[in-house]
Amino acid sequence: MDGSGVPAIRSTCPYCGVGCGVRLTPEGSGGLRVEGDPEHPANRGRLCSKGLALAETLGPEGRLLAPRVDGRAADWDMALDRVAQTFRRTIERHGPDSVGFYVSGQLLTEDYYVANKLMKGFIGSGNIDTNSRLCMASTVAGQKRAFGTDTVPGTCEDLELADLVVLVGSNMAWCHPVLFRRLAEARAARGTRVVVVDPRRTATCDIADLHLKIRPGSDVALFNALLAHLDAAGAVNRAFVGAHVEGFDAALATARQADAAATGLARDELEAFFGLFAATGRTVTAFSQGVNQSISGTDKVNAILNCHLATGRIGRPGTGPLSLTGQPNAMGGRETGGMANTLAAHLEIENADHRAAVQAFWNAPAMAQRPGLKAVEMFRAAADGRIKALWIAGTNPVVSMPEADGVAAALRACDFVVVSDIVARTDTVRLADVALPALGWAEKDGTVTNSDRTISRQRAALPAPGQARADWALFAEVGRRMGWAEAFDFRSPAQIFREHARLSGVAGRLGRDFDISGLAALDDAAYDALAPVRWPVTAARSGGRFFGDGRFFTASGKARMLALRQAPPAAKRSPRYPFRLNTGRVRDQWHTMTRTGRAARLSRHLAEPFLQIHPADADALGLGPADIARVRAPSGSALLRVLISTDVAPGAPFAPMHWTGETAPAARIGPLVAAATDPLSGQPEAKAAVVAVERF
Ligand code: SF4
Repeated sequence: MDGSGVPAIRSTCPYCGVGCGVRLTPEGSGGLRVEGDPEHPANRGRLCSKGLALAETLGPEGRLLAPRVDGRAADWDMALDRVAQTFRRTIERHGPDSVGFYVSGQLLTEDYYVANKLMKGFIGSGNIDTNSRLCMASTVAGQKRAFGTDTVPGTCEDLELADLVVLVGSNMAWCHPVLFRRLAEARAARGTRVVVVDPRRTATCDIADLHLKIRPGSDVALFNALLAHLDAAGAVNRAFVGAHVEGFDAALATARQADAAATGLARDELEAFFGLFAATGRTVTAFSQGVNQSISGTDKVNAILNCHLATGRIGRPGTGPLSLTGQPNAMGGRETGGMANTLAAHLEIENADHRAAVQAFWNAPAMAQRPGLKAVEMFRAAADGRIKALWIAGTNPVVSMPEADGVAAALRACDFVVVSDIVARTDTVRLADVALPALGWAEKDGTVTNSDRTISRQRAALPAPGQARADWALFAEVGRRMGWAEAFDFRSPAQIFREHARLSGVAGRLGRDFDISGLAALDDAAYDALAPVRWPVTAARSGGRFFGDGRFFTASGKARMLALRQAPPAAKRSPRYPFRLNTGRVRDQWHTMTRTGRAARLSRHLAEPFLQIHPADADALGLGPADIARVRAPSGSALLRVLISTDVAPGAPFAPMHWTGETAPAARIGPLVAAATDPLSGQPEAKAAVVAVERF
């Protein structure tokens, strides 16, 4: 209740994986007052600059408010019939693998659940993937290799309980700002040591005791060398390894061959890091896109997990690896199986027993029998005609995908493209045959899961604008029109959540980690009132950490350490493309700026796209401050404002990823990034493009 007597509505911020709670108070003008929720465990009332500006991002301007078919206004019946009939006809003529869904970490868990059920259980294909593929797919693959399941072992509180926090490939100060403040406060209170591993000096380094300016892509060499040091220093937990880990000897033998020089770090820097890690029992290693977005992202994740498994620093307070997810519901997407190589409820699509269990639960007529196309593959298949009908929901791949110009060409070549979005004009919506208006944040209802398995409600505080509908309702309606009326007779997010929770109970009985069957009996009122809760939620337990008891989800019950070898980035520098381009976020923008771009104060931080480049490189190229540089890659080019800074290393400039064809037509970064992917995770290598730079 606020001072005026209007009750505040509790919801969750729509941006990063911290998942901060917000309190929304409708104002007479149709707007909202947005405040941090002091009772939400993720933020305890705090918000970062993006969260504080949320109220300024609302309003009907620029919204997609009515369906469009072939560029003309249409009613819902016409648009949904066209989608259902075209998908059905395409499947009849060309088979289920001729269609695909490309969805988003912006979707709520209920949206994801219905889309995944439609594709994997009724259309009968694995071809549903998500923009989370660009975000944390390597962590999924790495955790599954080590633990048997995609399990985040610890919690964000562990950052406050640790004596040493190692941040790898993470600009936490800008990308997870509230979590960064929690860490900074813990450091001030208890003297936590902080090590940042990042080729670039970022704002996160402001609290670092040690900044390791690692050579791009050399993380496996660093953590292999650390593992060898831990063994030599007597820091391996032999009892834990003996009882709960397999693969230690092979992993160590390979690690001993590591070439620490590949990291580009000085001996004293390495010794300082290794000594700190070896001596500190309570250690958390938090990692993000600098680890994941690589052709060896999965190996990098496992190199980190190896060190925690070898020391037994996992599943206990103040210890463990911690993946920092980029999006508000990357985790919910994983839990519902919204990735091409997963099944619902953390079950395995390649496991016949798991497929049979899900098929029986759904009473599904045509269960997908194998993984579908991952993001990069899916757009390639659209380009060469294998995918003939594609539904893109809540994401803008013409900007965000690698080789983005090729994605635009793929959509032009594809027979039928559906885009459901909240925005009327994006680089992707403009290529749609059918555009469907979706509900946005503060209009839609459902749940999200943050980086540490905390499920929170997003709640509607504003009426639906125009004719917009929830994404789950669009997928359910198309499912009904394709002939599966009973299976898609969903009328509310609460109903979907209950089904999702019941299915997780099936997974739990099959020995999987994701089990929220304790929430399956929530009635509508209880779902509406649901307070943040960390999974698992069963009759026997709620929340907590995994693996403190040494039991893992592999067949043997033991964790796996992997023998890993350092591999260089895919794209090789050459006289023609002599620079290694790093890409990433800035503090006050989010993804392709469709929301943050509307808040004027957020643009004051960094107003335009830029190239951060070392003074020595700028001198050699004749570039001065605020000049315009042309950045050329084999797959495209961009024009960027020059920002000269020693924060980046010579030869390794940085450019932010947010600007689009709508906001800065010549400054899209996606076309510069090659579509090379990790063979295990399918995640593209977004942080190691090769480019040429010249004065424009
Ligand atoms: Fe939103 Fe993340 Fe900022 Fe929290 S830290 S307010 S979730 S953007």
